[in-house]
Amino acid sequence: MTPSTDRNQTLFDRARELIPGGVNSPVRAFRAVGGTPRFVQRAQGASFWDANDKRYIDYIGSWGPMILGHGHPAVVEAVQRAVLEGFSYGAPTEREVELAQAIIDLVPSIEMVRLVSSGTEAAMSAMRLARGATGRSKLIKFEGCYHGHADALLVKAGSGLATFGNPTSAGVPPEVVQHTIVLEYNNIQQLEEAFARHGADLACLMIEPIAGNMNFVRASVPFMKRCRELCTQHGALLVFDEVMTGFRVALGGAQSVYAGLIPGFRPDLTVMGKVIGGGMPLAAFGGPRAIMEQLAPLGPVYQAGTLSGNPVATACGLATLQQIAKPGFFDGLGAKTRQLVDGLKSAAAAEGVPFSADCQGGMFGFFLLAELPQNYSQVMKSDSARFNVLFHGLLDRGIYIAPALYEAGFVSSAHTDEDIAQTVAAAREIFKGLE
Ligand code: PLP
Repeated sequence: MTPSTDRNQTLFDRARELIPGGVNSPVRAFRAVGGTPRFVQRAQGASFWDANDKRYIDYIGSWGPMILGHGHPAVVEAVQRAVLEGFSYGAPTEREVELAQAIIDLVPSIEMVRLVSSGTEAAMSAMRLARGATGRSKLIKFEGCYHGHADALLVKAGSGLATFGNPTSAGVPPEVVQHTIVLEYNNIQQLEEAFARHGADLACLMIEPIAGNMNFVRASVPFMKRCRELCTQHGALLVFDEVMTGFRVALGGAQSVYAGLIPGFRPDLTVMGKVIGGGMPLAAFGGPRAIMEQLAPLGPVYQAGTLSGNPVATACGLATLQQIAKPGFFDGLGAKTRQLVDGLKSAAAAEGVPFSADCQGGMFGFFLLAELPQNYSQVMKSDSARFNVLFHGLLDRGIYIAPALYEAGFVSSAHTDEDIAQTVAAAREIFKGLE
């Protein structure tokens, strides 16, 4: 295709004149992998079509929310009905109550929940609540974990920031992050030292339990157990950022996975987003009643939002949760994702390419490394030149994975066995040609 007939290129050229970098969220720009971002025209099931009407099998799914694939009929119907009743009221609705109930029923650690519009807002509000509820200022986060772009959390975050080789952002004054302690993921010794030094001042420890912003790195069970013990011992809140993993790796989120491995395990606060909005701007944070009641209008911790609990977004989220709560949904999704991961591993092994991969529920990650990494510096060793070849090879063959080494992938219930087989066959062809 010549540049003049490539509508993606034409649109990108125009977008770059009007929007910084041509995109409204940095990682969409293909900066790490080079080339022209695909402008999406429409999507259905596990596929989307770009501005040249080329079809792609979609393993991004809006970076996680589209767990049912695009345009699931029950979700579309719920949204259409909601739209006809009005877009936004700025007053409470029954659907907000129903969605709160659905979340509380599915996640045992949550007794009360507040709805917001983005994961960034949810993480920022949870941090404020933790500080307000404990009367303390310091917080622990981990290198490579991303909790949205609130100033105090924008320190050594993964994914988009890692791609730009930019450990933090300009415009964040050092004083704003002076209470943020950044530790290495899965490093128990550092964790113990930090609690020994700062335990009495720690409001919370915030963690991605399976770090999707380092592609896919699990917190080890001993590490997670120690996080829980130390938070309890020192009166700090354990905050699970399940924006990506919530309702995605299991119906009860990553915390249900850890609860199966560590008896009695639960976080104090949970931050959610992506799947609970089913593709609409909706996120949430929740936890025990005594902590959540510290929020305005009951308590002293202020938090608000014009579009919070938006009636169209809640209709979309509710319809999505109803589908994924059906018996067997996660068994099917997990098996399909496992089929993809195992297929990719076998294809790499057959061609002698160092490769490791992991998955849980409908979320997966892979590395061009022989062993699964445990922390950010190990993730950074994944072979980016080979990743770029793989990314573009797949893209040419109509398969769309995240355009960055540090991003997880997502399988939906709409992906078919043929989609998976086609992806594995394409990857094998590319692996064969790798230098
Ligand atoms: N937390 C995690 C774990 C995320 O992956 C993201 C976004 O990818 C966020 C928070 C921020 O969510 P949002 O992009 O909706 O602001």
